[in-house]
Amino acid sequence: MDLFRGEFIETIERTENVRSFRFITDKKIDFLPGQFAQVIFDHSDLGDQQLNKYLSFSSSPDKNYIEFTKRLSSSSFCEKLRNLKRADKVLFKAPLGKCVLKEEYKKIAFLIGGIGITPVVSILEYIADRKLDTDAVLFYSNRSESDTAFKKELDDFSYLRGNIKIFYTVTKCRPLDKNCFFGRISKELIANKLKDIEKRMFYIFGPPKMVEAMEKVCFELECSQGQIKTENFIGY
Ligand SMILES: Cc1cc2nc3c(=O)[nH]c(=O)nc-3n(C[C@H](O)[C@H](O)[C@H](O)COP(=O)(O)OP(=O)(O)OC[C@H]3O[C@@H](n4cnc5c(N)ncnc54)[C@H](O)[C@@H]3O)c2cc1C
Repeated sequence: MDLFRGEFIETIERTENVRSFRFITDKKIDFLPGQFAQVIFDHSDLGDQQLNKYLSFSSSPDKNYIEFTKRLSSSSFCEKLRNLKRADKVLFKAPLGKCVLKEEYKKIAFLIGGIGITPVVSILEYIADRKLDTDAVLFYSNRSESDTAFKKELDDFSYLRGNIKIFYTVTKCRPLDKNCFFGRISKELIANKLKDIEKRMFYIFGPPKMVEAMEKVCFELECSQGQIKTENFIGY
């Protein structure tokens, strides 16, 4: 783990209240897909939890930029992100986290709600760009279709790579898209779509309540503890 200086290059709107922020760093951050960084606005006090927060990389380590994606709130940290101007400098502590893609896992699945998608984008971009043969299935739930961040990018990964499959669900009201399911990610939906549960590694990223709910679903599906990898987005 090391400190890196990043130069802000651009913001990308993902949904009404989710934005990606891209930076070029002074030296390459050698991270693994699935890892995160501490984004530091208060250089004088690294322990300042209001201005220094953890965000997952939402870009593949192979890119020549790094990207973070934040669900925006009215916090002072988000105010700093919103006010970034081209060439502004930001400090990062990275890489952090053990919930990473390992190439020896040939079959994987992701059980994701909302903002938990960020490290999954990094992992799927890595698999797609490197043309890995990892069999990856993503179950991705949001409140509504318009809240579904990275929909186009995810659809592109799955269109280009036959080994990446995605099942979307929405929970607020019935979706217009006939391929999108209505309701939470459930034991029934997963059992219906995955016929090789015992052979898969399950990744769960996101706010603690979502991680707890998805872990419970995995146990209902009789997954072993060793088949489940979790990363809690503490702070939600
Ligand atoms: C490993 C990891 C990876 C993460 N990756 C991402 C990511 O990719 N994208 C992302 O958006 N977030 C990610 N997070 C979460 C992120 O670090 C922030 O904690 C989160 O986004 C909330 O920050 P905020 O500034 O928007 O909101 P804040 O306003 O600071 O807080 C969010 C909510 O928590 C409440 N709250 C804040 N402090 C307290 C408190 N002390 N007691 C009780 N309630 C409190 C607030 O009222 C608010 O409702 C990650 C966290 C971890 C640990």
